[in-house]
Amino acid sequence: MKTGAFGIDIGGTTVKIGYFDTAGTLLDKWEIPTRKEQNGEWILPDIRDAVCAYMKEHNIPVETVAGIGLDVPGAVLEGGIVNRCANLGWGVTPVKKIMETMLPRLPVRVANDANAAALGEMKHSDAYQNIVMVTLGTGVGGGVILNGEIWTGAFGAAGELGHIPVNPEETECCACGKKGCLEQYASATGIVRIAGKRLESSGEDSVLRKVPKLTAKSVMEAAKQGDALAVSVVETACDILGRALASVACVVDPDAFVIGGGVSKAGPMLTDCIQKYYVKYAFHASRNTVFKLAELGNDAGICGAVQMILSEKELLSTDCG
Ligand SMILES: [Zn+2]
Repeated sequence: MKTGAFGIDIGGTTVKIGYFDTAGTLLDKWEIPTRKEQNGEWILPDIRDAVCAYMKEHNIPVETVAGIGLDVPGAVLEGGIVNRCANLGWGVTPVKKIMETMLPRLPVRVANDANAAALGEMKHSDAYQNIVMVTLGTGVGGGVILNGEIWTGAFGAAGELGHIPVNPEETECCACGKKGCLEQYASATGIVRIAGKRLESSGEDSVLRKVPKLTAKSVMEAAKQGDALAVSVVETACDILGRALASVACVVDPDAFVIGGGVSKAGPMLTDCIQKYYVKYAFHASRNTVFKLAELGNDAGICGAVQMILSEKELLSTDCG
């Protein structure tokens, strides 16, 4: 009988590992460093060692473990193949195959980290089967969950909301090499960029002129205090994002948009502002889409990763031991 499963979130600095019961409750979690030397070739063996050591230490028989869900900061193709991951030093890497060769009795599932986080948030909210998660961090990421499952797309790029083209007039380059991508405006970096330009081009007084270092957080806080320039920056970012999500809704028509990432710490002020512009631009049939803040924080990755295992009934019932 299966009693547990692992959810593992591979990041550029640390690997987060969670051990869950089969109801999806997190029982234990810890981190190991991500060893990126030699093109990241030690990352997967380190994970195997950590999982085996944990099972040994806690007397967990292998036949009681349903499997391992893993997420990575890169595109994942059919069959758990990671399609290059610069953050980890990986080229095209058959992660599922490598892990299942090292741990032959444990089934492995692999997803992109933003997609896994979206799945984690969907299961956590337990209210919707169709969501689009938008992660506003250094960049803009996202994940699409349709009928309760991750939608990866043909090339593993579904949910790459940050690179939706929003401005053909842009002269600066996005990290992806294109110009005028959503994340140039709606990410933490984008918000700082808009604020910097506005401070430079206007003589307007603003508390932002006195902050030691301009950050998305300082812009959000100044906007909350009613600083007119900061408010105008947030309005611009939310306008562009709300319009992009109105386009997304024309294709996906989700129950809810879940807003996460560091910028989302600004709270309901941010979701309300995005929703205000979303409603302005959305097709009439999808104007009632729910906007909510992500709730799992740093655990979203491990919680979503394990759900790939726990949502497969066969893995919970069959005895692979
Ligand atoms: Zn881009």
